[in-house]
Amino acid sequence: MTEQSAQPGFSTRAIHAGQEPDPRTGAVVPAIYQTSTYKQDGVGGFREGYEYSRSANPTRTALETCIAELEGGARGFAFASGLAGEDTIMRALLAPGQHMIVPTDAYGGTYRLINKVQRAWGVDHSLAKVSQPDAIRGEIRPGVTKMVWIETPTNPMLGISDIAAVAEIAHEAGALLVVDNTFASPYLQQPISLGADIVVHSTTKYCGGHSDVVGGAVVVAKDVAVQEFSDAAERIGFHQNSMGAVAGPMDSWLTLRGLKTLAVRMERHSDNAEKVVEFLQSRKDVTHIHYPGLDSHPGHDIAAKQMKRFGGMVSFQIEGGVDRALDVVGRTKVWTLGESLGGVESLIEHPGRMTHASVAGTELEVPADLIRLSTGIEDADDLIADLEQALGA
Ligand SMILES: *Cc1c(COP(=O)(O)O)cnc(C)c1O
Repeated sequence: MTEQSAQPGFSTRAIHAGQEPDPRTGAVVPAIYQTSTYKQDGVGGFREGYEYSRSANPTRTALETCIAELEGGARGFAFASGLAGEDTIMRALLAPGQHMIVPTDAYGGTYRLINKVQRAWGVDHSLAKVSQPDAIRGEIRPGVTKMVWIETPTNPMLGISDIAAVAEIAHEAGALLVVDNTFASPYLQQPISLGADIVVHSTTKYCGGHSDVVGGAVVVAKDVAVQEFSDAAERIGFHQNSMGAVAGPMDSWLTLRGLKTLAVRMERHSDNAEKVVEFLQSRKDVTHIHYPGLDSHPGHDIAAKQMKRFGGMVSFQIEGGVDRALDVVGRTKVWTLGESLGGVESLIEHPGRMTHASVAGTELEVPADLIRLSTGIEDADDLIADLEQALGA
């Protein structure tokens, strides 16, 4: 993907967008405005629009501006978690009686939100394989389907969806396309440039990047393709303030700091993941490797077209079933056994019993012998040696 020549490059935006040096002190880093309220110069005399920190806070504004610029969108919103951002998108834009299409492979918490919370509220959904645009087309209910939701790459199976193709299908039907871009991060993939209307992130993951903050972000495209949602950004802003699941100043600041190094981290995550995949390929007891960088991955060509590189997430399956998978994830020393992903430290987990336990028994259930790796930015040799000892001879 080529950068638009009119705007600065990705890393320049990551470091500077929304983050002018403080005019009073010259501080190069935005302050943590740990304040709930603001002095008014006479009733209603707000300075720069700041009235109360649920509605807006300068540290959060800096993050919201930065992430919007990184995704090439018109407006950004920062939330207390990725799920808070997801819930706000659905609440703000859908109404009971409407319908959304959801991937058969997705973050378990996303599906729980859609299946338990949104459904109880009256928003129905159908499942479709994200890798098959025609399957998505087949689930469209004319006039009722208002949102197509995809993740690409998916969590935890690393499925790939053709964003441009799905955008066309959604828009033809008068539905919005929302892309969960958590696994790729805005460095590797910018869905709005491919036709998505809204991008959502768990900034807990690569954007924050240091496993020290939980957060979410939503970015709305400048030109939302569906007329009835042309005010999507205003509606999301209204709900963000009305429901109040906002990112606090300290969390916003940590996420903003993480974004500054996103480009270099993603390059290293991708380098390390490629080396780990090469090692896994050398093992006879590894039966499947799920990584979009592999020629053999069914979504490889699309991923190569829409992503800059293939990222740090790798899943694989091994001989020996669930017992051996549980044994291996308990044996690593450099890879930490834990949920979450996208931090500088490498993490290993068993999706079936951990991150995706909530989708057991649904169509989103994951293979029992699946192990998911979030490849960190340590030395690749150490990561490989540790996996080798954990897998055994
Ligand atoms: C973690 C995750 C989420 C949820 O984000 P939280 O910050 O945990 O609320 C959503 N989507 C994907 C792909 C995730 O990995």
